Amino acid sequence: MKLILRGGRIIDPSQNLDMEADLVIIDEKVSAIEQNRSGDKADDSTTLIDVSGMVVSPGLIDMHTHLREPGFEYKETIQTGSNAALAGGFTALACMANTDPVNDSRSVTEFILRQAALAGGTRIYPVAAVSKGQNGKILTEFGDLREAGVVAFSDDGRPVTDSGLMRSALEYAFSLGIPVISHCEDMGLAEGGQMNEGFPSTELGLQGIPSIAEDIMVLRDIALAEYTGTKIHIAHVSTAGSIRAVADAKKRGVPVTAETAPHYATLTDEALRDYSTHCKVYPPLRNSEDMAAVREALRDGTLDVIASDHAPHSSIEKDVEFEYALPGIIGLETSLAVCLSLVHDGVLTLPQLIEKMSTNPAKILGIAGGGLATGVTADVTVIDPLAEWTVDTATFRSKSRNCPFQGWTLRGKAVMTIVGGVIKFDTRS
Ligand SMILES: [Zn+2]
Repeated sequence: MKLILRGGRIIDPSQNLDMEADLVIIDEKVSAIEQNRSGDKADDSTTLIDVSGMVVSPGLIDMHTHLREPGFEYKETIQTGSNAALAGGFTALACMANTDPVNDSRSVTEFILRQAALAGGTRIYPVAAVSKGQNGKILTEFGDLREAGVVAFSDDGRPVTDSGLMRSALEYAFSLGIPVISHCEDMGLAEGGQMNEGFPSTELGLQGIPSIAEDIMVLRDIALAEYTGTKIHIAHVSTAGSIRAVADAKKRGVPVTAETAPHYATLTDEALRDYSTHCKVYPPLRNSEDMAAVREALRDGTLDVIASDHAPHSSIEKDVEFEYALPGIIGLETSLAVCLSLVHDGVLTLPQLIEKMSTNPAKILGIAGGGLATGVTADVTVIDPLAEWTVDTATFRSKSRNCPFQGWTLRGKAVMTIVGGVIKFDTRS
């Protein structure tokens, strides 16, 4: 079977490529990128799709998603999460371990992979917990979990408080060639906090979480990575202090990579003025200086990745008093459009955005994808960069609706998502 995407703007940061051309997919692989190709006709064995005016990108990869299955299927299942990912333009995602039971054993990893195969949608890569039950005390069996198919280790949702345990985790993971992803939060400073510590928290009468709660743990993790010579990846960076620490570490050659989420680049703690629980997230939305630092760090490369931190919660967990609401925002179906606003605002170029949402996550996780070189598996996202749409969570494929962008008019969306040469999502139909 031949699939030809004709006349799109093909952007592939892995080959430094940005040009108008045809992308030819034969069976499940990229066969060619060619300009002025002629002679192809649609017939029984060839599908020809005109994508002129569209951007053809390597499939987007979300390296930080919470799928909630097993244990919290009322918030999301692997099937609904996979559907949401495809609609958001993601051909692959990595799912965090804070399920119930926690993904701390081969049997849970295998269950996730089985459900993912049944879902038959986006590629799903499990992340295993660093510690058994995410209790921060005993390391999981890294070798066994790696063999079962995990691509990273993280206690995300919770910090690894014990520095000795974190050191061991880094050393074991390094020997297996996969990263540890760190949720950086000093619990002594963050405990009981509802939102960012600042004027808005004082005025709203909500207990604050100071930005140093994040900065201190980022500094510790950088120190551990530097001391041990092992790699670390910092999840959902939200503060100017963390960014300074990561930038300094990178200058010294410390093997640290870092991500942020779309909401830290587009929202501040001012969004909580009406006590909207849809803006309650950990780490919390910070102030305007932090947001400016996040945007600048995306531009200058200090932040390598944009990940959704898709964290579905049901209405019974969000339609409650602010202090009882669970933290988290869904992101799979809005990430691309929200981040395209950074392109429209001139913060990032389109190739930079695609690098952060596809090429770099593939590199950091050591998984397939992130590029469109001849011979690679054809995971492709077709993006209409200008299509205007209004966020209406009622139409979302995710099971949950906890989205701070409800009602926003955004520009840009995925119009087609292709996994392994097969069209899995298509707005034309
Ligand atoms: Zn986290």
